[in-house]
Amino acid sequence: MTLLEERIRRDGVVRGPDVLKVDSFLNHQIDVELLDEIGKEFYRLFSGENVTKILTIEASGIGVACIAAQRFHVPVIFAKKSQTKNIAGPVYTSKVESFTHGRVYDILVSKEFLRPEDRVLLIDDFLANGSALQGLISLVRDAGATLVGAGICIEKAFQPGGALIRSMGVRVESLARVKALREGIGVEFL
Ligand code: 5GP
Repeated sequence: MTLLEERIRRDGVVRGPDVLKVDSFLNHQIDVELLDEIGKEFYRLFSGENVTKILTIEASGIGVACIAAQRFHVPVIFAKKSQTKNIAGPVYTSKVESFTHGRVYDILVSKEFLRPEDRVLLIDDFLANGSALQGLISLVRDAGATLVGAGICIEKAFQPGGALIRSMGVRVESLARVKALREGIGVEFL
């Protein structure tokens, strides 16, 4: 998606060989008009799939998931990170290793909201090693729901997540695929 690549080129900040900061438009301050274009693109890609729920993970996936959901006219579920014990009733859980914080945490979704008849689209801001998507995929499978694919804003294609998730037979659509991050120079796309 040219618009997103241009924005990353202009405002993305490279932090070492494997971290891209996009705090000025996606991860802290949010450019809602850009998100709207992203949502439109996810809808173009997945509109034939009869999506009934969009599933993401807190916190940074929620904004883009919500804006995409307005196109699909479906609810968003965000998997909670497990310190939140304030969900009453049965839950699906799985484990995710945080790319940015380097620790493992549990994620959970109430069984009330993820049903066997659901057709689920996963949405997240970044794909790196694939742990967040693997955790979400596991929740969908435990629920007996159908996974239609994953919509990712920025895939760091030099990291293993994209190949890993595609090798599981999951359709992954990434709007910007980063080939390399060069500190002080910039971002190269595939
Ligand atoms: P994965 O589970 O695929 O290793 O990492 C995906 C998650 O880590 C995303 O939800 C995102 O929040 C975070 N993440 C991974 N790489 C980056 C990065 O380069 N920049 C930012 N801002 N977040 C990242």
